[in-house]
Amino acid sequence: MSDELDELYQQVILDHCKAPRNFHTLDGANRKGEGYNPLCGDNYTVFLKMDGDIVREASFQGSGCCISKASASLMTDAVKGRNKSEVKALFEKVHDLVMTGNGDAEGVGKLAVFAGVHKFPARVKCAILSWHAVLAAVEGKDGPVSTENEKN
Ligand code: ZN
Repeated sequence: MSDELDELYQQVILDHCKAPRNFHTLDGANRKGEGYNPLCGDNYTVFLKMDGDIVREASFQGSGCCISKASASLMTDAVKGRNKSEVKALFEKVHDLVMTGNGDAEGVGKLAVFAGVHKFPARVKCAILSWHAVLAAVEGKDGPVSTENEKN
């Protein structure tokens, strides 16, 4: 990846970190997923309004580092309008992206900005945290999820 592209990606992450999208609780939410990354202290709750299998609205609340917040911001935008299996498929792509830096995976769109994270293994959990939380939410699992279950 070129330095220029790296810089552009960093700007997108900073922008979403400073002014996160969908950063609020959600009236009428019928699914909730919690994510906690003890290594960094990132702690978020993801709220979904689901209509059958389709995510109609998504939001999040909580606190954490810039990468985790930007990731949750972009994640909530990315899952809107997708069904459960599409959210799962997107999780797999983003997981692959942050682990390997393969930003060419089809359909990741803006999420490609996290491709550089794979160079910083300690930040991979920050970037994938909100994705674990949204996966728990669409699966309808109870209880918080922790990145401690993540096998790196
Ligand atoms: Zn973090």
